[in-house]
Amino acid sequence: MKYPAVSNYLNGSFVVDDLPALDVFDPSVGQVISRVPLSSPREVNRAVESARAAFAGWSSTPIKERVQVFYRYKALLERHIDELTALVTEENGKIASEARAEVLKSAELTEFACSLPQIIPGEVLEVSRGVECRIDRYPLGVVAAITPFNFPNMVPNWSIPNAIALGNCLILKPSELVPLSAGRIAELLREAGLPEGVLQIVHGGKEAVEAICEHPGIQAISFVGSTKVAKIVYRRGTATLKRVLALGGAKNHLIVMPDADLEMTASNVVASMSGCAGQRCMAASVMVAVSKTDHIIRCMVEHAGRMVPGKDIGPVISAESKARIERYIAEAEAGGAEVLVDGRKVTVPGREGGYYLGPTIIDRVTPDMRIAQEEVFGPVLVIIRSRDVDEALAVENASPYGNAASVFTESGGTARYVMERASAGMVGVNVGVPVPREPFSFGGWNESKFGVGDITGRGSIEFWTKAKKMTTKWNREAGVNWMS
Ligand code: NAD
Repeated sequence: MKYPAVSNYLNGSFVVDDLPALDVFDPSVGQVISRVPLSSPREVNRAVESARAAFAGWSSTPIKERVQVFYRYKALLERHIDELTALVTEENGKIASEARAEVLKSAELTEFACSLPQIIPGEVLEVSRGVECRIDRYPLGVVAAITPFNFPNMVPNWSIPNAIALGNCLILKPSELVPLSAGRIAELLREAGLPEGVLQIVHGGKEAVEAICEHPGIQAISFVGSTKVAKIVYRRGTATLKRVLALGGAKNHLIVMPDADLEMTASNVVASMSGCAGQRCMAASVMVAVSKTDHIIRCMVEHAGRMVPGKDIGPVISAESKARIERYIAEAEAGGAEVLVDGRKVTVPGREGGYYLGPTIIDRVTPDMRIAQEEVFGPVLVIIRSRDVDEALAVENASPYGNAASVFTESGGTARYVMERASAGMVGVNVGVPVPREPFSFGGWNESKFGVGDITGRGSIEFWTKAKKMTTKWNREAGVNWMS
């Protein structure tokens, strides 16, 4: 094995326990590179105990001091970017430029956390003569973040810097498919001066997640993953009265109008559906082609056809994932859809064991097909034809998901019309991946997000803190009034 077995990180140390374990694969070659322990409620309990012990000291440290750790952490992320990039590439499979962009995004997320002291000063107002109301924000206590496989470095950093800078102690449960980056994040934070117990890592799968949901010592959970598991975590976590923000899966629609800029639209749509091998919750999944858009589709086919698996597009995460995606394509084809670009049966010389698929574009798909409705999570774009923008919006609105939607057009009126009517939390115009950047918040609608608030940016401040409303009267002249 290239890497030693992964260990839980409890109270500032990596702890080797005799736990059942799973293999960790490099998806680009299909070979085992490490092992990941499957923690039980016992390990979760140990993490909660040390987090609880650390909370008093950490939460009473002024926020301007707390964020100093994150200034140093950001510098460490940048200093170690090559190594962190290589680790993401190895455990997740994405190509180096995508992995590097992910680590840079983690640095940007950390930069936002460093700005929190500038953003969160409490509100204060003299509400009647001599009487003042103010709001101060307090951390919740011990909190947890449960993360998916597709961004091993970035998604943990959606929660870690903000939750911790705001004074919480956090337990991270990374995806068991990509557990390596999490350990390096913990090491870098330790080097940056984060005190013991403020961050814990508990590896594992279902059992560890259930123990987090049930533990009475955990106040809040952020979850990112599939809608199926987001619902489980939201239901179980809130049943034990926790605050839960659970981000789920997606089926993102790009509405392409006939007036859209040819080259920009074709390249953006293909980049959106194929980036990170389509394993992004913001990836284009359905293109709704409005009226005469054949010239744009032809240009997309050329773009996709030029992409070289192994160089321009990485593998998907597992052999099962690859087989599942291939089943969706075969079923659509059997149902009468036309496969314009077929990414099946690709091999990468020297990496024959890798789980590669090329970009796949399927035309003449109808809204009732499974591939048009369910999340495929691979480099597959389906095209649904529509006569006008209202018909296109009806297709988008019918999806139970609601992460992202975009429109490609040169008309400001059409752009505004679609932005107002799309049923998604993040919408774009002429943007294939409309991810809001800090200080704006990330979060979808409908079955793409359960709970109130967003996971990053300003939206996360409300989630990771509780507000105390203070009313004071120091001026005797204020006398007695209806408020007294
Ligand atoms: P997943 O739901 O399988 O796993 C996510 C986490 O849940 C992992 O830590 C895993 O260990 C745990 N888990 C898995 N099955 C469980 C169960 N039955 N009970 C309790 N815990 C369980 O998701 P994934 O395959 O790792 O990631 C891909 C999914 O994540 C896609 O659906 C994608 O759209 C979604 N995603 C969403 C966003 C977003 O912002 N909305 C961002 C990234 C990924």
